[in-house]
Amino acid sequence: MKPLAKRISVMSGEGALSVFQRARELERQGRDIIHLELGEPDFHPAENVIAEAERAIRAGQDRYCAPPGLPELQQEIAAYLAHTRSVTCRPGQVVVAPGCKLILSLAMTALIESGDEVLYPDPSFPIYPSMIRALGGGAVAYGLREKDRFQPDPDEIRRSVTARTKVLILNSPNNPTGTVYSPEVLRAIAEIAVEHDLWVIADEIYARIVFSGPYRSIATLPGMAERTVIIDGFSKTFAMTGWRLGYAVAPDEVIPALHMLVVNTYTCASEFIQRAAIEALRDPLNAADKMVAEFARRREFFPSALAQIPGFRCLPPDGAFYAWVSIAGTGMTAPAVATLLLEEAGVAGIPGAAFGRLGEPFLRFSFASSTAQLERAVERIAAIAPRWASAAATSRA
Ligand code: PLP
Repeated sequence: MKPLAKRISVMSGEGALSVFQRARELERQGRDIIHLELGEPDFHPAENVIAEAERAIRAGQDRYCAPPGLPELQQEIAAYLAHTRSVTCRPGQVVVAPGCKLILSLAMTALIESGDEVLYPDPSFPIYPSMIRALGGGAVAYGLREKDRFQPDPDEIRRSVTARTKVLILNSPNNPTGTVYSPEVLRAIAEIAVEHDLWVIADEIYARIVFSGPYRSIATLPGMAERTVIIDGFSKTFAMTGWRLGYAVAPDEVIPALHMLVVNTYTCASEFIQRAAIEALRDPLNAADKMVAEFARRREFFPSALAQIPGFRCLPPDGAFYAWVSIAGTGMTAPAVATLLLEEAGVAGIPGAAFGRLGEPFLRFSFASSTAQLERAVERIAAIAPRWASAAATSRA
């Protein structure tokens, strides 16, 4: 057999999915596992969204439809971005896809070619460096460090720009750290992008899940609308992970390339899901705000409860629904702590290295689980903590 394409060998998967598989295996053996590994709201879409999907299927809205998305949905997305984050765009700049991940890959495919360098945050969504490498690009990380409260350092970004740098990726709020980029950092990054004529991919999938102040999109800063591709979707804000619907908002120059990629890949997203998505955006039941209010309550409790565990450090995140825990004080590696927690305490979290090199001494726990589950998780973690407390004491001795 001739070999497969080399691009596959430079790609990497998602740590969350492998932990999930092991957790399911333990459940099949009869174990009780608390799932804090997946980035999935423990909510379902609002009643009006489900009713509209049912209506649309019965009405036969299950055919091929417009490749870039239903015009009504494009229009609703443009209106939604204007009123939730002051982003101005025309409906024609919106491209709808089955999931954020897919439109993210297509946006990267449209912008990155062999030899281009791409700046991306470390730690972050593992698909960024994986796709950069698959496209033949050079993945150049900029750090999100605990000492900076996980804010990017614009000086580091500036120093990392070379003549080959073409794209800068940012994700605010960031998965896994929960960082909402500060106005100063956003301004500085925008200046660097304009000065060096970079494309920016702003992954704003958690933009509605913020716990302090209004959300600021980098696309609203001077000189940015024409160089920024916003990625967002329905998985997190509207609890529609399995419905698979996301979108990009791109400058006019990028739109024909995205249309070409849509036609060459998925043709269109399913019409009945797009009809339901219009209902999600209109949100007459205020479901998104109610869900975020619930995440805010859990955020009050969970990160600080984890911070009380011996050897753990954890700051409450400004956005998204993850607790990013430094385990440096346990005297064990993050994979060893994660294994102990999963195999013996029945709590599934993800070793931080799954999100980049700087994530190595961390664990990520999602708090998109009921408060009762989170309380049980904390009890279980506290009960097993003496195991690393003794390991830490031995390594100090
Ligand atoms: N971007 C980030 C930062 C994410 O955390 C995720 C999902 O976890 C995605 C994109 C993908 O979203 P979707 O489920 O819509 O493909």
